[in-house]
Amino acid sequence: MKYLDEFRDPSIAKALIGRIRSSASRLSRSVKIMEICGSHTVSIFRSGIKSVLPPNVTMISGPGCPVCVTAMEDMDRMISLACGEERDSHIIATFGDMIRVPGTVTSLEREMASGADVRVTTSPLDSLLWAEENPEKEIVFLGVGFETTSPTVAAVVKRAKTAGLANFSVYPAFKLLPPALEALLDGGDVAIDGFLCPGHVSIMLGAAAYRPFSSKYQKPCVVAGFEPLDILLGISMILDQLLNDKHEVGNAYSRAVSEDGNQNAMSLLLEVFQPCDAPWRGLGVIPSSGLGFNDAFMAFDAVERFGLAAVPTGSDPPECACGEVLRGVTSPPECPLFGLGCTPDMPIGSCMVSSEGSCAAWFKYSGGG
Ligand code: SF4
Repeated sequence: MKYLDEFRDPSIAKALIGRIRSSASRLSRSVKIMEICGSHTVSIFRSGIKSVLPPNVTMISGPGCPVCVTAMEDMDRMISLACGEERDSHIIATFGDMIRVPGTVTSLEREMASGADVRVTTSPLDSLLWAEENPEKEIVFLGVGFETTSPTVAAVVKRAKTAGLANFSVYPAFKLLPPALEALLDGGDVAIDGFLCPGHVSIMLGAAAYRPFSSKYQKPCVVAGFEPLDILLGISMILDQLLNDKHEVGNAYSRAVSEDGNQNAMSLLLEVFQPCDAPWRGLGVIPSSGLGFNDAFMAFDAVERFGLAAVPTGSDPPECACGEVLRGVTSPPECPLFGLGCTPDMPIGSCMVSSEGSCAAWFKYSGGG
């Protein structure tokens, strides 16, 4: 516990808050900082950071929750494998909250309740085991996540190829972070003064990956871990840059994040997958922001194997403000469905599904709207 306690030390937190307030008062203008990642959002709420920030510093949530950004069409295509005639010949596997993400008319969870074989796992390796145990069935893994998780799935695909597993495939709904940040700023909907970059994704990417972005858009980017002191230090470093008219990449998480990241993991990722245009829930298609299979591994692409590109899909309900929430334009309580039609128990939009979703975090820490 000593390690964690050090990163929650109230006396250091007080000193950092004092530094933030001092910088904010000298800035004498309003500042919006986007915490890109849902883990930061939850930690900011849970530790009370939101309430101690000076009035001219606003934290806004970004599109860094993989559950939230998975497009309706991706869910509909996966759900099609769990329905109708296909149902008994497939085992659908994915990470935790994905089964609750709404498709146009149903979800994997609802199909599971009506008899579909949908399995939740924390390890995509389990899928290989299920493929070996069920040679008469197709095991389809719904792969979601950012640079943190996709290298692991790439390793599993390589293993499946080596093992000659012909009944295993992956639906690649992965996302890449830097292109999404570019799309946010290019969209011009919201003025963001700086970015608090996610610790876990940055362990893979390396701090240097944000440099072209920071330089192109002239925005400070600071990598931060998820403990309260990490976040306070990250905010303080962003304000320091703004005060000094700088737009650099800072690293408030140097105990875990290096300059170049995990090159082995990134090489493995690019051996199996390559960047491709990808749909984001509420944000539309963002160029080069997803991962598709490379030719050598195309046999493991569930979209190709089952002709899923042809599955008809719908769109988000008209009242749902998930797109605006994910772009930081709207705060969750401003959505007309927040806490009324849409709650963590009965999510209408994807941002209410995962505990790391902006709407779910607001709902939980604001007492339900
Ligand atoms: S309250 Fe529900 S519908 Fe509205 S933005 Fe949040 S998740 Fe989407």
